[in-house]
Amino acid sequence: MAGARILEGRPIADRIRNDTANRAAVLREAAIVPHLSIFVGEGDAEGAYYGDALRKVGSRVGVEVSIDTVSAAEGTRSMIAALTGAAANHKVHGIIVQRPLPRGFDIYEINRHIPAAKDVDAASPISFGWLAQGVPHFAPATAAAVIQMLREPGLPQLAGTRSVVIGRSAVVGRPVAYMLTSADATVTLCHSRTRDLEMICRSADILVAAVGKPRFVNAGMLKRGSVVVDVGTNLIDGKVIGDVDADSVAQIAGVLTPVPGGVGVVTTSILLRNVVAAAEHGTI
Ligand code: NAP
Repeated sequence: MAGARILEGRPIADRIRNDTANRAAVLREAAIVPHLSIFVGEGDAEGAYYGDALRKVGSRVGVEVSIDTVSAAEGTRSMIAALTGAAANHKVHGIIVQRPLPRGFDIYEINRHIPAAKDVDAASPISFGWLAQGVPHFAPATAAAVIQMLREPGLPQLAGTRSVVIGRSAVVGRPVAYMLTSADATVTLCHSRTRDLEMICRSADILVAAVGKPRFVNAGMLKRGSVVVDVGTNLIDGKVIGDVDADSVAQIAGVLTPVPGGVGVVTTSILLRNVVAAAEHGTI
């Protein structure tokens, strides 16, 4: 790799984790233990693995993380019952339902049952509505991680940039597009039916790849000197590969986030910080 500045997520994540740990310590002194409840659909091994990773990071910053697997037999109904319990439990400050859920769970129905005050990954329609209006309570953690990285010193101001997002999922692409819009970027949101994708990408000062296809973005799709954020995490032969062909893209881009060690680590840190913020709000 040569050329592009590699924008590592680790130092940003460490900064957020230090802040989170300090704030969690203050809460713990007041006998409040910040707690995140994660619900995983039965059979979602990846979701369980991610939950476990969050628990490990949580233990380092003073956030307790519990993981409950919800039976697929009565998927949606069981999940709603579990969420209702967590919503009423004053010891639970944050709730996330691991997405995508396995078959048998209706994610849209389920998300309605996450109360906004505990919706630390902004999955509920209320949180999403606030985000769309430009006044988020909590922002979805991955999208917030993308924006946090784009605001690092030395990067261009977001206002006025041409920004292109590839991928329009409710979890990543759409929230990123809303947050970039709120930051005064001019945003084009692309998807599998987009015509002239390469040409659109070549107009981008900032390109965010959230496609779910390994090495999808190549050097031929870039404007020289652009900022490229790789959200992709594709597990190939036991290795995590991004949506960006890093070797070729680094020759043309001005800035590139790596995978692993980029958006992912920042996302985890933001999620835990949101839990602490939710616990703080509960004390006011
Ligand atoms: P998703 O739900 O599968 O959405 C993929 C999006 O890419 C869709 O909007 C799809 O278009 C679009 N797409 C697919 N093929 C395309 C093509 N040939 N040209 C243009 N657009 C195309 O995936 P996701 O949940 O958004 O996740 C995206 C990636 O981010 C995955 O690799 C995932 O693992 C990763 N991820 C990372 C984090 C993190 O914190 N680092 C968190 C969540 C997800 P249509 O809508 O038309 O189908």
